[in-house]
Amino acid sequence: MSIPFNNPLSIPVLGFCAYSGTGKTTLLKKLIPELNRRGLRLAVIKHAHHNFDVDIPGKDSYEMRKAGARQMLVASHVRWALMTEDLVEEAPSLPHLLKQIEADKVDIVLVEGFKKLELPKIELHRAAHGKPFIHTHDANIQAIACCDDTVLPSELRRLDINNVGQIADFVIEYAKQWTASGTQLPLQAAPECGCELDTSKTLSVRQGIDKILTYVNPIRVSELVDIDDSSNRVLAEDAISPVDVPQHTNSAMDGYAFKFSEPMLGSYKIVADVMAGHSYPGTLQAGEAVRIMTGAPMPVGADTVQMKELAEENGQTVSFNGEIRLGDHVRQAGEDIAKDTTALAAGHRLQAAHQGMLASLGFGRLPVYRKPKVAVFSTGDEVCQPGEPLKQNCIYDSNRFTIKSMVKQLGCEVIDLGIIHDSEAALVEALKGAATQADVVISSGGVSVGDADFIKLALAKVGQINFWRINMRPGRPLAFGQIGGSLFFGLPGNPVAVMVSFMQFVQPALRKLAGETDWAPTLVPAIADAPLRSRCGRTEFMRGVHHLASDGKLHVTSTGAQGSGMLSSMVRGNCLIVIGERDEQLMPGDTVYIQPFSDLL
Ligand code: AMP
Ligand code: MG
Repeated sequence: MSIPFNNPLSIPVLGFCAYSGTGKTTLLKKLIPELNRRGLRLAVIKHAHHNFDVDIPGKDSYEMRKAGARQMLVASHVRWALMTEDLVEEAPSLPHLLKQIEADKVDIVLVEGFKKLELPKIELHRAAHGKPFIHTHDANIQAIACCDDTVLPSELRRLDINNVGQIADFVIEYAKQWTASGTQLPLQAAPECGCELDTSKTLSVRQGIDKILTYVNPIRVSELVDIDDSSNRVLAEDAISPVDVPQHTNSAMDGYAFKFSEPMLGSYKIVADVMAGHSYPGTLQAGEAVRIMTGAPMPVGADTVQMKELAEENGQTVSFNGEIRLGDHVRQAGEDIAKDTTALAAGHRLQAAHQGMLASLGFGRLPVYRKPKVAVFSTGDEVCQPGEPLKQNCIYDSNRFTIKSMVKQLGCEVIDLGIIHDSEAALVEALKGAATQADVVISSGGVSVGDADFIKLALAKVGQINFWRINMRPGRPLAFGQIGGSLFFGLPGNPVAVMVSFMQFVQPALRKLAGETDWAPTLVPAIADAPLRSRCGRTEFMRGVHHLASDGKLHVTSTGAQGSGMLSSMVRGNCLIVIGERDEQLMPGDTVYIQPFSDLL
């Protein structure tokens, strides 16, 4: 029995049906990114047969729903979810569910389940499962994805169940047909480089970072340094606190320490003054108080402090105003850091607060990992050393200076190999020399298409180097690999592309190499003040200025012209505006992520 279906939306809806175990979800998990890559924005509706829950006991939303909220909407700046309790026998109808989709945000809805609906569908079939066909009794099947040797009626459109690209082609064709008479689909060609290039060498930013990180083995050699010399070094062993911090229970205020009682006494006899660094030798009795300074140890017998401002002295006695609770204004011994606990785990990069805390535990020297050694050089016959006269048709080298500065910010030792001219022999020499001294070798220039082939030849002679195209702007070309035991990064030549590629790819690698654990770039949501455009399928790193606006929120504006050679945009900016692969056109008021420079520059 089939149930008629009316699509209430202005966008196409396409179902996927199969007997369980055919691999519907597995296919959809591959198909969704492929369709995204081609510019299609998707919604998916999945039918579940059983009682299910997406919430977790203990979460506020769960508890409020269990307390009786029929609808619970939980929202943040990244996602929102509406949970509705439908305590009816029948599952909600697909048209009703479709009406919940925001059709202006997506181009097509894919539906998993709802087998009995008269909904256009793709059937998935694996002969090996021995299950019957669906198309034999369902006229809504548009195509069947099956294995090569499956015999089908000739009029049925067949797709290869193992060919996600082909199934994606079909979905796009279907969506285009559906919209032929109505609205246009904002379909993009596959990212332009995908067609002429070996796609295994075209990577997203994330794929590039992930590949690089698999090659990075953290340095495990450590040394002891004076705490004064530990700035920006990475802690090599867990720092276990030898003491309680604070060491003694002490006063958090200038005031009077006494023994709490209920009700409070009308007045207390002042028996001593206790200054920081001193202590009261006796035991405080009920009805007695000491004048006490911030940080001074609490006398034995005292448990509460009243601040000076709420106390009145009268000769040798004191009386207190205001409400007082047991334990007020007292810092308990060990409440900040307890003895024998890990105060700071290995893998932290030591900055002011870490150093202060470790000093407060009494550490005078700290075990830190050896600094990574990083060799840096520039390439190009046109590149000249600053400080020397600029030759005809030449430019001053800026890349070596931005790279060296960022390398030093990351606490590495720099080996400056200067400018290497466009000659294979010179480059081979430089690379070999660099790899014997350094953990990482970084060059700039000479990795874009059409560049003198000697760079590739030279790199091939000294190591295993991959030439990638990253779907990003600026900074598309990137060479990465190994020369002996060293890692090699061949950054692009354009000065802004160099800095952006360094931030995205070299930075995580150097941090991992240095022993830092759990580092991730800081990404903060901000409100776009002006329209921002990108190309779907690539990540755009625009230079931006973030500022706190009069609405109390963080806003961001582009620095203006974004040429990949214009270092002034990096100087004017204080962040990168990260427009993700899927974003295309962001309007004023839309939220966009920014990566502040403060991490590195
Ligand atoms: P390339 O990839 O070598 O063709 O370089 C791309 C662009 O970046 C060219 O305009 C180069 O002149 C420029 N460039 C290359 N190396 C440097 C450098 N070290 N400093 C400044 N600009 C550079
Ligand atoms: Mg060059």
